[in-house]
Amino acid sequence: MITEEWAKNPKAEVLIECQNCHQKHHIEEILKEEPFPVPYKPKTTEVFWLCPDCGFRKHSFYMTPELRLRQQQLHLSLSKFNKSHESMDWEGYRKARASYQQAFDHEQAYVLRQIGAGNERPAV
Ligand SMILES: [Zn+2]
Repeated sequence: MITEEWAKNPKAEVLIECQNCHQKHHIEEILKEEPFPVPYKPKTTEVFWLCPDCGFRKHSFYMTPELRLRQQQLHLSLSKFNKSHESMDWEGYRKARASYQQAFDHEQAYVLRQIGAGNERPAV
């Protein structure tokens, strides 16, 4: 997952503080993913925070195949820019980021509709 901090400094260590016990952990230790199939998108997963100390779990977002693809494109365009430092590649990264953000919102709304959260259900 890309955070703003990571984009600016890919080698930075990102520490996350647990909201429950306030222990700090590396992002890889605490960020988990498990299958969360929804209609027409069986490969969807739920990404969540799980504290190894106290077991506190918090939903982060839903990862669908479409979103995973956009994320890969985002990683690629960012590493291209990090190598070249060309303004053209920065522009490519900016576009990939906008497209990822759009897909992110769209896919979260899709999953929420499928599991019946919110008020998007059509009246019967
Ligand atoms: Zn904790």
